[in-house]
Amino acid sequence: MPADRPPSVDALARDLRDIGLPHPLLVDAARAAIAAGDPSSARSRAEAVAAALLGPVINATGVILHTNLGRAPLPVLPSGGARRYSNLEFDLVSGKRASRSDHAARLLALAVGAEAALVVNNGAAALMLVLAALARGRAVVVSRGELVEIGGGFRVPEVMAQSGCELVEVGTTNRTRLADYRDAVREEVALLLKVHQSNYRMVGFTEEVGVAALSTLGPPVVADIGSGLLDAATPWLSGPPPAWLAGEPAARQTLAAGAGLVTFSGDKLMGGPQAGIIAGRKDLVGVCARHPLNRALRPGGLVLAALQETALAYLRRDGDAIPFWRMAAAPVEALRGRAEALGVGKVVDTVAVAGGGSVPGQELPSAGVAIDGDHAAPLRAGSPPIVARVHEGWTICDLRTVDPADDAVLAEALAACTS
Ligand SMILES: *Cc1c(COP(=O)(O)O)cnc(C)c1O
Repeated sequence: MPADRPPSVDALARDLRDIGLPHPLLVDAARAAIAAGDPSSARSRAEAVAAALLGPVINATGVILHTNLGRAPLPVLPSGGARRYSNLEFDLVSGKRASRSDHAARLLALAVGAEAALVVNNGAAALMLVLAALARGRAVVVSRGELVEIGGGFRVPEVMAQSGCELVEVGTTNRTRLADYRDAVREEVALLLKVHQSNYRMVGFTEEVGVAALSTLGPPVVADIGSGLLDAATPWLSGPPPAWLAGEPAARQTLAAGAGLVTFSGDKLMGGPQAGIIAGRKDLVGVCARHPLNRALRPGGLVLAALQETALAYLRRDGDAIPFWRMAAAPVEALRGRAEALGVGKVVDTVAVAGGGSVPGQELPSAGVAIDGDHAAPLRAGSPPIVARVHEGWTICDLRTVDPADDAVLAEALAACTS
């Protein structure tokens, strides 16, 4: 028997109380440390558990829609119905049951010029529901150039297989013509599907068919536009549409070109919470809304309240109220001014990107500060954690993705790294 016996789990856990975790988590860390024969590791184990809890971080990467950091940042926590009882499915005039599509979905339909809209949990769910509701057991025609993988396991042919429709591929990887679709259109074709290639681009000898031409063939055209740019004219910005949006399909214009439905994410270029939106013809949206899968894919009041806030900002044409657009539209001179005001490191020109698989290859001139050496790990360990980039031995913080309210905290953390 060694002279100093291992401490009891309970004593060890009590020593960790200052970390602020609930007791069962401290007991767990203590037990794991003792089992590993290293009781002194209990503290670092408990601290690792605390650090892994979901919490805010400062995104200094310059990637505005950073998938690992929660994609689009939200405005303040939504007030409408998020915290208390709400009229989620209640009509306050008649006192009768109503639909959870009466709020955010209705506002979004208006914002994109659609007859109707439906909200589900994410973009993948939106496409899945559309295919299951409108095409189960029937043919859906897609160009071979659009059988893409978006990332995170979203592969168009697999989503189609899951929804129970029959995939009919037309054209080739690089070129698909209207005649290819026309040859494939037969009685049992339920839909023509267009999928935005999102995070990759094909250049050179390519050809694809637009929604307007497809909509002349008969079956409804469904366009998965992915990123959720609501209107190519960006009326919520004070200037003209930014150059980096070039080529990104927009919901309003895709519907105006003849699409029966568009589907898109809520937390990419739309700048809202994680959600999937189905918008377009009232009859088609209605079939999706009545499908049993809709019950499994519908979001809760928390998401719908945040989405309503975002939709109202669009309808007010107030891009400043949407953090994604506020960050994307910030003039580079303003970012440079903030970088100088930090008073630490050297001010550098940087390149930010929209991210989230949207507008690949498009760069947003930006500015930030660089400090000598790789300080990524200590910055991540801060409170709040700061996620920066390291390039050629410099730690770079891009201010385009940092909320100005966090500048002081960032400056302090960087100063601590350099002292
Ligand atoms: C991002 C994307 C999706 C998936 O949307 P999630 O909201 O991430 O589920 C589907 N289709 C396209 C074209 C996309 O760009």
